[in-house]
Amino acid sequence: RDVLRRDPHQELFHADVRGALRSIAPVLVEHPEYTDVVGRLCEPERVIVFRVPWTDDHGRVRVNRGFRVQFNSALGPYKGGLRFAPTVDLDVVKFLGFEQVFKNALTGQDIGGGKGGADVDPKELSTGELMRFCQSFATELAQHVGATIDVPAGDMGVGPREIGWIYGQYQRLVGHHEPGAFTGKPAVLGGSALRPEATGFGAVYFTQRMLAEQGKDLDGARVVVSGSGNVALFAMEKVIAAGGTVVGCSDSRGSVSEPDGVDVDLLREIKGQRGSVADYAEKRSGATSGSDSAFLLECDVALPCATQNEIGTDEARALVDHGCWVVAEGANGPVRPEAREVLRAAGVGFGPGKAVNSGGVAVSALEMQQNAGRERWTAEDVDTRLQQIMSDAYDRVRDAGERYHGDPADLENGANAAGFLRVAEAMTSLGVV
Ligand code: NDP
Repeated sequence: RDVLRRDPHQELFHADVRGALRSIAPVLVEHPEYTDVVGRLCEPERVIVFRVPWTDDHGRVRVNRGFRVQFNSALGPYKGGLRFAPTVDLDVVKFLGFEQVFKNALTGQDIGGGKGGADVDPKELSTGELMRFCQSFATELAQHVGATIDVPAGDMGVGPREIGWIYGQYQRLVGHHEPGAFTGKPAVLGGSALRPEATGFGAVYFTQRMLAEQGKDLDGARVVVSGSGNVALFAMEKVIAAGGTVVGCSDSRGSVSEPDGVDVDLLREIKGQRGSVADYAEKRSGATSGSDSAFLLECDVALPCATQNEIGTDEARALVDHGCWVVAEGANGPVRPEAREVLRAAGVGFGPGKAVNSGGVAVSALEMQQNAGRERWTAEDVDTRLQQIMSDAYDRVRDAGERYHGDPADLENGANAAGFLRVAEAMTSLGVV
């Protein structure tokens, strides 16, 4: 009630809190000592909202709004990405920050949860403008972050290049090297091998465990992956390596159907030149583009890897009608609550984002570890650890689903329950702080 009263218009955040509380209720029956943790868990420790002034290529001064929500530091430094997108507001950042607290707990790493970003569309900025924007953003952010305080990474619209610029400005301001203050850096600045791939690869590793539970695998499976950004492209790559066919994908401007399989290298090249999936389809004789959701296509596995609220009831019903086995959220919150009900009622496996896409932040924690020890691990080494982390996260989530909700396939409630248990134990151990 306090959450709803304090910020009445934060619908995404409220929906997420409601869902988490439903999952947590049976845990409190077994652990009544964690009851007082709930109210504190729903209130961020700190919310920072700031002005980001910058000068465009025509000499005009522009202003955006920056955010950093430091949600929970019970398990370790706040950790979570920075999102640059026009849709970023406090509701979005609080929703993502709340998710991040549970997600980070599920990785088994010692990291708290946070999230940030700005309401800017990086696609509309020239390279010079974007660098100036990042520097202005970092000038304020620098006062609030650090290797043992808060460690931001990338998210939508923020990749290694932008993290490099933000870290560069941070380094100038603090006057020393501190690579552990940011993750997702370019390799030359101490970025971990496999960090760019980690979220997409990890999502596929998690999906493989879900499929194995049903006696199925990706070999020969038809897979739709939405988005064609960082998470989506690496998820596609891993699906194909496992013998699956990516029959459809999308971006913010439309979707593509290609029954014989999307050519990921070509798609990556076109997106790298700021092209669209429609531009991609023009170059492929077997591909057709359109404006409908990619999830209306026939598929066995659906991996929404673009953004929140992509799958509503229409898409969910189409997936059910087409006999889809599994929907696993590579993105944060892509399946609307009502669509999840449709999938659940039809017995379609559902993997929640806080578990499925936790591979990215898990490798970010490995990057912090490498930076602290002045080490560099090989891609193979990081991949082995990532596979183990995703497998352990799957076990944790499945076991909590079974224990607290009577169903090992209830990964959504299981993820909330398992994440809560770890954070609640840490918060209780710290006393009322
Ligand atoms: P990117 O910015 O690299 O890619 C996002 C992709 O989604 C782009 O292709 C974009 O299209 C597309 N997109 C945006 N809006 C829509 C829409 N309404 N319909 C269809 N496609 C759309 O972001 P990431 O790949 O990094 O992130 C994707 C999701 O994964 C986000 O929810 C993010 O929070 C989550 N995530 C990311 C992690 C990471 O390590 N990067 C870690 C954990 C979660 P266009 O190309 O036209 O802009």
